Amino acid sequence: MSDALPERQTDIGPPDYKQFLPPVVAKNYGKWKYHERISNAMMVHVGESGDKCYTVRAASPRLISTDFIRDLTKMADKHCGGFLRFTTRNNVEFLVDDENKAKALEKDLRDAGYMLGGIGDTISNVVHTQGWVHCHSAATDASGLVKVLMDEFADYFTGKKGLPARVRLAVACCTNMCGAVHCSDIAVVGIHRKPPRINDEEVKKACEVPSTIASCPTGAISPNPAAKSVKIKEDKCMYCGNCYSVCPALPISDPENDGVAVVVGGKIGSLRSNPKFSKLVIPFLKNNPPRWPEVTAAFRNILTVYEQGARKHERLGEWVDRIGWEKFFALTKIPFTHQHIDDFTIARETFRASVAFKW
Ligand code: SF4
Ligand code: SF4
Repeated sequence: MSDALPERQTDIGPPDYKQFLPPVVAKNYGKWKYHERISNAMMVHVGESGDKCYTVRAASPRLISTDFIRDLTKMADKHCGGFLRFTTRNNVEFLVDDENKAKALEKDLRDAGYMLGGIGDTISNVVHTQGWVHCHSAATDASGLVKVLMDEFADYFTGKKGLPARVRLAVACCTNMCGAVHCSDIAVVGIHRKPPRINDEEVKKACEVPSTIASCPTGAISPNPAAKSVKIKEDKCMYCGNCYSVCPALPISDPENDGVAVVVGGKIGSLRSNPKFSKLVIPFLKNNPPRWPEVTAAFRNILTVYEQGARKHERLGEWVDRIGWEKFFALTKIPFTHQHIDDFTIARETFRASVAFKW
């Protein structure tokens, strides 16, 4: 490929990302020598050419208004030639090629009331899914939960409070898990606890019976020819909500029985230890909007015990691996229950995929 930024000659798929790179990134693409953290809000990447790229990171509430986007773009127009980016965890990053520009940008952002931080051994923005705002199968809210978590842990984002290593939080509002719950240090996933309710009249009018049956991963759905509808074998149902995506006459949301589970110890990075899947530690907490005090208390408890026990640079999952899960449950005083046990005998040992403990 030539050095010139390619323009994709097709109307299918997204445009080539390279045309959106800030000039300093495009010029040094793939030729970075090292990077270092200047503060919790700023880092610098140094290229083999000697060029420097300064990144200033701000928090975002993830679901953001048009006004907020306009404010961000005005800031980017003023300081960064119009370039900004969102990280996978929805932090906003402004990129400039000069330290003085970066300092002026940081000052402007702080003066405008942005919360800056999230770089290094901090809690960065919480990655999350759509929740009640948008998705049909949500068992909990995402934006509301994330708001209370960020309120609770803002000092860890800004760096006012330190941590042994970075801690990544995530929220997914059902077990489809569009968020990074499986690979975050502390995370919460929405769960349903009752099978879908069948509205025979609506199934008849709105749903295709064969595709509804085919949508169930456990084979719990069968035809009900008398009612021109379907039946659900309740003891085979795992409350995943898949059938509701296919047939809107099988609603699964339930204000009394829906809630969240807490999982811990996941990570994406392969620094020092392999990437890890999170494991279940709290099987169920009831939805308690608007402030979810039980969830914030559970996160606070786990974070405090981790902070007190972990060594420098030790991620939460690595700390638990060192002390053992028995000790984790003893220190956090979280009860170990039958829901933690994975007794699915057909799962191969090497899956490493279950959130539960192998029995
Ligand atoms: Fe929808 Fe589930 Fe994804 Fe949330 S996690 S956005 S409820 S599919
Ligand atoms: Fe099957 Fe999931 Fe629907 Fe239960 S909720 S019937 S497991 S598709």
